[in-house]
Amino acid sequence: MSQSERHIQPVREAKDWSPSSWQTRPAVQQPSYADATELERALVKLGNLPPLVTSWEVIALRKQIAEAQEGRRFLLQGGDCAESFDDCSSALISNRLKVLLQMSLVLTHGLKLPVVRVGRFAGQYAKPRSADTETRDGVTLPCYRGDIVNAVEFSPTARRPDPQRLIEGHSHSALTMNFVRALIDGGFADLHHPEYWDLDWVKYSPLMSEYQRMVESIGDSLRFMETLHGAPIGSFSRVDFYTSHEALVLHYEQAQTRQVPRQWGWFNLSTHFPWIGMRTADVDGAHVEYFRGIRNPIAVKIGPSVKPEQLKRLVATLNPDNEPGRLTLLHRMGAEKIEAHLPALVEAVKSEGARVLWSCDPMHGNTESTSSGIKTRRFENIRNELERAFDIHAACGTRLGGAHLELTGEDVTECLGGARDLTEVDLARAYKSNVDPRLNYEQSIEMAMLIVRKQTQ
Ligand code: PEP
Ligand code: MN
Repeated sequence: MSQSERHIQPVREAKDWSPSSWQTRPAVQQPSYADATELERALVKLGNLPPLVTSWEVIALRKQIAEAQEGRRFLLQGGDCAESFDDCSSALISNRLKVLLQMSLVLTHGLKLPVVRVGRFAGQYAKPRSADTETRDGVTLPCYRGDIVNAVEFSPTARRPDPQRLIEGHSHSALTMNFVRALIDGGFADLHHPEYWDLDWVKYSPLMSEYQRMVESIGDSLRFMETLHGAPIGSFSRVDFYTSHEALVLHYEQAQTRQVPRQWGWFNLSTHFPWIGMRTADVDGAHVEYFRGIRNPIAVKIGPSVKPEQLKRLVATLNPDNEPGRLTLLHRMGAEKIEAHLPALVEAVKSEGARVLWSCDPMHGNTESTSSGIKTRRFENIRNELERAFDIHAACGTRLGGAHLELTGEDVTECLGGARDLTEVDLARAYKSNVDPRLNYEQSIEMAMLIVRKQTQ
């Protein structure tokens, strides 16, 4: 048994915790359902449906995150800001998988480290919002909180929080998960066939030749190793792929919180790797209470308003036994604020001797509006925040071990800049997100290449 495996053995169950103990704490960002009976019926149904992931997978991911904490892996986490039920289609799912596989190939090859691959999908259906209501032309309705709660259309029926959507969210997650698992088991992720991951319009990309050179060099190494080995190496034909989402709607998460035979404690089996969003990370709030008792590896978003003492309490509450693989801190400061805010937080965690994986979300602190009111992000700011994050960790003697990105495999125009230097005029061409702007395919690959360049320069 390796060092990290030994540490992942049971420590103890969280004290005075149950899957519903969060209900005794203030729960922000929750939908208000008009009919308690209707909600209860949906939750009973949800509680009886089979889970989406297994405890074995959850434990395997925890081990990989423990290795990333030790500097032996890099975490790549990416996907849409929010999935939608309408986008649960084969092309969108496989394109997203393709771009994540290509990015992980770039990172593994360049960093010479295995990558922990985590999608923001199969459950990323709930969104925190800055206001509870939205007013248009004198009409006020509940805000859109993601497809698992209500619909984006501005009408009283569409915006009513509907408990039935909790079940639909579970079903769409299961459909997504099923397709991803089938693709991977069927050989879609086979390193011998990186051409399976090519997206049609990539042929015209300015980055194509650099990517192609890398793929050829991997192919050569693979053939060389298999010649030595005397046979194809099976482990190159499949990869591990994990799912994550912001565990925001706590009734939904509670209904998926299960005990399993021959394991102690409770697992959230709706996803491998749930995270707490920035707006719900209050140490005394309901979300932290819920997360404290599940055995999954978990992450928390850390914004610029978090103070070092607050962060220490949060870390102690979520990982009291300092277990490896348990806790990832996702900092999302913004390119302009990272220098001023991150070092003190890193020092605070270091001073406690707390074991965490540091990962950077360079998206959410860099959202801005154009003069015509379109929500966007500049590639240069995203890049700058990531690069500063690597430098700050290096200067503090810690390691940035992951990146968390909002991206899509589609040819959208939502973020400015990148290899094709998208401008404000381009945003009108293919802006599809209902929520935050995502890196398109090309900008995502470029970001992976920049991470490699930064780490190997
Ligand atoms: C998100 O990840 O989509 C999000 C809302 O992030 P944050 O909690 O960091 O604002
Ligand atoms: Mn977002």
